[in-house]
Amino acid sequence: MDELISPVENLLLRVSKDIPNATPCNEIFQNFEDSIKPLFIESDHLSNLVKLQLIGFGSQIVNTLNTVLVGMEDSNERRQSRVGSRIRHDSLYGLLITNMSPEPGRSCTFEIKPKWLCQSPNAPKLAIRCRTCALSAYRNRELEGPVSSKKWPPCPLELVSDDLELVASNFTMRLQEQKAFNQQPVDVRVRVMLAVEDYFTIGKGRSLLKRIEELQRLHDPEGVLGGHALGMSLCKDELPSGPRALALRMAMTLRDCSMFVRVHFDDKEAVVEARLADLDLKSEDKIEEWFEKERDLVLGGWYLGTERDLRPQAHRAPAESCVMARKFSKKVPLHLQGTLV
Ligand SMILES: [Zn+2]
Repeated sequence: MDELISPVENLLLRVSKDIPNATPCNEIFQNFEDSIKPLFIESDHLSNLVKLQLIGFGSQIVNTLNTVLVGMEDSNERRQSRVGSRIRHDSLYGLLITNMSPEPGRSCTFEIKPKWLCQSPNAPKLAIRCRTCALSAYRNRELEGPVSSKKWPPCPLELVSDDLELVASNFTMRLQEQKAFNQQPVDVRVRVMLAVEDYFTIGKGRSLLKRIEELQRLHDPEGVLGGHALGMSLCKDELPSGPRALALRMAMTLRDCSMFVRVHFDDKEAVVEARLADLDLKSEDKIEEWFEKERDLVLGGWYLGTERDLRPQAHRAPAESCVMARKFSKKVPLHLQGTLV
């Protein structure tokens, strides 16, 4: 007798939450097919996207799933922040997506947020922080406590740096945070680390990240601020519209996607697999928020590191946290650095 293989094996079901303005799954799917997928076909990276398959289902399925959620809440199995949220009844579509979870004992998975892989076109020329590090510094301003207690995600410019040793150490560091990896014998760990290094320095992972960087640049050449005079109040007519708005939404989608990296280590040769997820096309309603955020970063001195004039010293990022700051500190003698920014 043939072995029966489930048609949904290794797939996850994604459904729409019952909240205002949630994009229905059929719209997410259509945007993905029309706007996002073509960007990766040309560069032969289609296999690096999480696959989406649109399915329809009856309202009975929604009732059943919502009942399951209630049961999980009753037994405290649901994350607190999600308690009370339900699946919407008015859109009977769902998405089957590739499951990148690890198989216990055979693989491990880690997640990367590539973020802004190149500088914002609106950043000042003498910036010592990239867009992501400038935003991290800005967000940390409201947190109490010493610098060491702030959140400083790794600088995304490291991921696409020409310094391949830096790229390799960034990825192996993430690997070493995985319990499943650390439980492997030394020879397996060495093999896996070498495979991950190769993948992201000379292999498909490198070309994938370089492709995302290129797409971010191509789709947003002038930045959300365009030629807006920063001291002036915002007139809504000045916000990007038409094809420029769509291109900007695509660039912002690519700046907020996730990359899941799964490493299989049960064979003689470690196999690395990277797939991009969270590629839901950003809504046009977000453009005003992006505009205001970018304007705050530029006017507040967050790119230049000059916010120290306005904020307590304790809120500054350690200078070495951004690739741009490190390059700056190599070029400019220490005693002059404070006078130039
Ligand atoms: Zn940075």
